[in-house]
Amino acid sequence: MITFYPGPSKIYPQIGQYLQDAVAEGILSQNHRSQAFMDMLKDCVSLFKQKLNIPADYHVYFTSSATECWEIIAQSFTAKGSLHIFNGAFGQKWFEYTRKIVGDSTFDIPFSFEEKIPILETDTSKYDILCITQNETSNATQVDVSQIPPSEALIAFDVTSSIGGIELDWTKGDIWLASVQKCLGLPAGLGVIICSPKAIKQAEIIGERKHYNSFLFIHENFGKYQTHYTPNVLSIYLLKRVMEQIENIEQISRKLKARNQDFCQFIEQETVWQLLINNESVRSDTVIAIEGVSDAIKKIKQKAKEAEITLGNGYGNWKETTFRIANFPAIEDWEFGALKEIIE
Ligand SMILES: *Cc1c(COP(=O)(O)O)cnc(C)c1O
Repeated sequence: MITFYPGPSKIYPQIGQYLQDAVAEGILSQNHRSQAFMDMLKDCVSLFKQKLNIPADYHVYFTSSATECWEIIAQSFTAKGSLHIFNGAFGQKWFEYTRKIVGDSTFDIPFSFEEKIPILETDTSKYDILCITQNETSNATQVDVSQIPPSEALIAFDVTSSIGGIELDWTKGDIWLASVQKCLGLPAGLGVIICSPKAIKQAEIIGERKHYNSFLFIHENFGKYQTHYTPNVLSIYLLKRVMEQIENIEQISRKLKARNQDFCQFIEQETVWQLLINNESVRSDTVIAIEGVSDAIKKIKQKAKEAEITLGNGYGNWKETTFRIANFPAIEDWEFGALKEIIE
């Protein structure tokens, strides 16, 4: 069984062994205030920072999902208001949830998925935070973070479908949020939030402590390598093991980008198919959307099914006329070979 679904997606094949190890090592029966758990959490965070080249003064926290991270940002980092700049379904959802929590001081700037993110001429001092979906899983586009000018407001990036796949310049953002079931190749059930010193300072100024998942509670608990509620110990353990196993993100990123280029060139040669995103400079490295007439889509899905290959469905408006392919590191090159054979 091969899957190119962009989330939940293929898990690293080693996960089966790690699950057995977790049981054998007894970590799953340990309480989350025990030394064994605290040591494991500490190792996990440290390996995560090391493999992904996250600056030493940035902090890593675990939550339950990327969606929960959106909520935490709205609750704990937003007092004046937020500005959401997006071109697709995930960015829009983030905006809508924030608006429900924060209210009328939530603003949006939608932009076209074939265009680069607009350079802000707005005075950002009106906002606490700018919210940007770095990799828009729904339409297979990405934002080059180096194009976002530094601002007084915090900059938050949703990197759910790119973290662990491409190298990110962490210094360009203050808050980075994600979950583990996409590019990190793990089972669903764990979210990640990464904060700069500036973000932590802002949360302290705002001082919000009304929710079980108020950022300051999370921050204070993680300072002791503890968590604000009983966490997904298994998932943290699996993440630690995966972080031990993978190469540095620089190498992973280089390979994924090359595979993306190769696959996109392959699609461009096919007469039945084209890439949904024409503008190469905004095309995602980790999610590829392929367009064709709905009849062709039906046929390819059937053919793939017979070969036990799962393709990602198109999203929203593109459901009938596109399919999506995850280019995540847990997917192996030979699987892309098998996919090409189906498409040819
Ligand atoms: C999948 C996805 C989410 C939601 O992740 P959950 O873990 O289900 O909360 C958010 N943002 C982006 C860009 C995604 O691809």
